[in-house]
Amino acid sequence: MKLPKIREIIEAVKALVHKPYTSNFPFKPHVPHPNFRGQPVYDPEKCVGCLACEEVCPSDALSHKDLIDDGRPRRQMIHYTDSCIFCGTCEAACIVDNQGIRLSQEWELSFFDRSTAFESIEKDLQLCEMCGSVIGCKDHLTWIAEKIGELAFSSPTLYQSRLKSIGIIDDNIVGVLKDFGRSDRVKILCARCRRKTTLTSDIVPFNLIGDGAK
Ligand code: SF4
Ligand code: SF4
Repeated sequence: MKLPKIREIIEAVKALVHKPYTSNFPFKPHVPHPNFRGQPVYDPEKCVGCLACEEVCPSDALSHKDLIDDGRPRRQMIHYTDSCIFCGTCEAACIVDNQGIRLSQEWELSFFDRSTAFESIEKDLQLCEMCGSVIGCKDHLTWIAEKIGELAFSSPTLYQSRLKSIGIIDDNIVGVLKDFGRSDRVKILCARCRRKTTLTSDIVPFNLIGDGAK
């Protein structure tokens, strides 16, 4: 018969008086190690909806939908739990000091219905004030304006976004300035409409120019 080693005997004696070495799960919730890489979670306050994380995600676990048809334009940012490999690339690429999406300690990710295996947040969208196409998230435009400082004054889209975010102007300005002339140049515009308004003669209405101004 093979005799136990002294170390094993000591361990056995210790085990008689020591607490269990294993966790008491499921009776007590498991607390993972601080370096554990769990479910990435969006922070709706810090995320600006730029989509950089979606660009770098290696497993297509991040996606978005632009919802603009119900009068409340917004971007739904989606994380699909069942596709995520918890690599942390999204957090590393996040433009807001890696705070917009972060790996968490969340490890309990079982589900019965795979179609429910996602989490999402929503960010307000900025539409072009001429054609209504999507420019980006309002918070993202404000973030860029703050980032580049006084350089933002070279872009009406950026400085108008910044002024709106701090409440100096509101959407009424669009109605006041709806003349399809020179004043259109200070609106929040997509690149195509910016080009059109810049190339337009002030005496020719915008809606008569057509695509010739491309
Ligand atoms: S942790 Fe990796 S796989 Fe998961 S959402 Fe982020 S980038 Fe994609
Ligand atoms: S990179 Fe950061 S700020 Fe941009 S959408 Fe992803 S979480 Fe939000």
